[in-house]
Amino acid sequence: MAKLTEEQKAKRAAARARREALAAEKKDRRDTERRETWAREGTRLTWDEYKAGVPCRGCGEPMYDGLGDWPGLMYLTEEEKRDHEAMEKRFQQLHPDCKSSRWGTSGSRVTHCFLCCPLPPVGPAQIEKLSRIFRSFPSAEERKKDLDAWELTLTCDHVTTFIQHREHTYVRRVVDCPDCQTRRGVVESKRLGPAYTDDGVEAARSEVEQARLVAELTQAKEQLRRQHQRAAATSSRIEELQKQLSPTARGDDIA
Ligand SMILES: [Zn+2]
Ligand SMILES: [Zn+2]
Ligand SMILES: [Zn+2]
Repeated sequence: MAKLTEEQKAKRAAARARREALAAEKKDRRDTERRETWAREGTRLTWDEYKAGVPCRGCGEPMYDGLGDWPGLMYLTEEEKRDHEAMEKRFQQLHPDCKSSRWGTSGSRVTHCFLCCPLPPVGPAQIEKLSRIFRSFPSAEERKKDLDAWELTLTCDHVTTFIQHREHTYVRRVVDCPDCQTRRGVVESKRLGPAYTDDGVEAARSEVEQARLVAELTQAKEQLRRQHQRAAATSSRIEELQKQLSPTARGDDIA
């Protein structure tokens, strides 16, 4: 079988990246729509409802059954195995076509579907913990020196910059496109370097502009090189033809 050329390989990789970006965009759109529906219809439980034992509004099952976590599957007694199977069957009945992953609460055995069931509400203790973590974060000004700018090519072919902490080695799969004003899948991403210069000025925009100019310049140089090549080939062809012509037939205007 013939091996793929480098060009063919690159073409295939690009097609795959675009396909994956479009799929991520589609999933993101579905997730957003679901969140909006839940908000509109009040599907999420409030903390008080959750504490009072109101069942999940997505599937009708209890949020917390108090049966304790399952021991490892291999440690189940015969009775527990039967219970486990029954729960499994019930889940399949409730979510025949969801093909989604599941979630459950700690100390509880019932499982919920990521597609149908909103996660339990965040409690006051958790909110307090999160705000403590946020308070310990360095200020926005201090964080700037640790931020990198990335250049992203989106499914709409718009190129945009994205700023995030330097320790991230890749960019999220779907971002907001400022031009389309909608969420778009990321087809290609490239780290540009520090997002802010020493005096805190955003460097990203000018870096993107620079990257674009460099790409354009490379392209123009390549074009010029090919034109030179063609010109050289044409002039040696002219020389060859001139040699073949008899001295009397040689036109003066062919230099
Ligand atoms: Zn549920
Ligand atoms: Zn479901
Ligand atoms: Zn766009």
